[in-house]
Amino acid sequence: MENKLHLGRALMKYMSFKKLSNYIMLFTSYHVSRITGKPRIWGFPTTLSIEPTTSCNLRCPECPSGLRSFSRPTGMIEERLFQTIIDQSKDYLTYLHIYFQGEPFLHPGFLKMVSYADNNRVFTSTSTNAHYLSEKNVAAIFDSGLKQLIVSMDGITQEIYEDYRIGGNLEKVKKGLCLLLEKRKESKLLFPRIVLQFLVTGKNEHQIPALKSWAKEIGVDELQLKTTQIYDYQNGSPLIPTDHRYSRYLPKGDGTWKLKKQIENKCWRMWQGAVFTWDGRMLPCCFDKDGQHVMGKIENKGIKEIWRNENYAGFRRQLLEDRSQIDICKNCTE
Ligand code: SF4
Repeated sequence: MENKLHLGRALMKYMSFKKLSNYIMLFTSYHVSRITGKPRIWGFPTTLSIEPTTSCNLRCPECPSGLRSFSRPTGMIEERLFQTIIDQSKDYLTYLHIYFQGEPFLHPGFLKMVSYADNNRVFTSTSTNAHYLSEKNVAAIFDSGLKQLIVSMDGITQEIYEDYRIGGNLEKVKKGLCLLLEKRKESKLLFPRIVLQFLVTGKNEHQIPALKSWAKEIGVDELQLKTTQIYDYQNGSPLIPTDHRYSRYLPKGDGTWKLKKQIENKCWRMWQGAVFTWDGRMLPCCFDKDGQHVMGKIENKGIKEIWRNENYAGFRRQLLEDRSQIDICKNCTE
């Protein structure tokens, strides 16, 4: 709760009349679209995710970066391109997540990009596997103005941790996290807020009590226990937790599985935000990891134009008519 208050205050600090009215316009157009069944869009993205790089030091089995299985091009964003995205969206942006696929700290200009967004009064957040939290990087993180750092850690022992985070070194993650929290305390800083994110699977769910007490001991600001998306869930998977509170799927009783949440023909995400790949492709949301639904490329058109183009309108229309026809939306609990 305390963490949410700090984050809320930081978000409000960067709020403006233009950003707020844009948010209200988006929200209104979303509901008008739902009622009429016709897609209307009356504002510009209020949230964005931007991918610094597709490179990653780990080999996680459910991730295309880890598997090196992208069919789209892989690489690192040019700082000039990042700045163009910020310049075009900063008047409306309330939240920027500088992450999509890959490990952001592998981009040599990553914290410079965070600073650029922060200097343009944009709230910034990122996700990391926390293998690069050295003394030097920790100091640079504080200077960058980053407001939230999400650390992915899915095990409290090396054996369980590396079962999913293949190639990962848990001791390094724990050390980096402790260093960050210690230095922040020493410097009497409130930001970045540190969120420890644990993707619950059938293989690590028994470690939740130990994780909770460790997180409390080192003083992370928030612990998030997240459900895991499984690509081929229909016939079950050892990754599906037995505790159904942490699962997106439920057994049907005949050996097959179904989504816990019933799919409805709506999705607020398609009215409020978008994702940019490292090479400037604008995607509908973070579930489109391989970039199968490119709405446009910023190299050719501006964000505002893409946001209102026929690709977007067609995608939003299909969502309102029958979401189950869109591949990525079938296995999405949004
Ligand atoms: S996958 Fe489809 S339903 Fe899920 S967030 Fe993306 S656009 Fe919305």
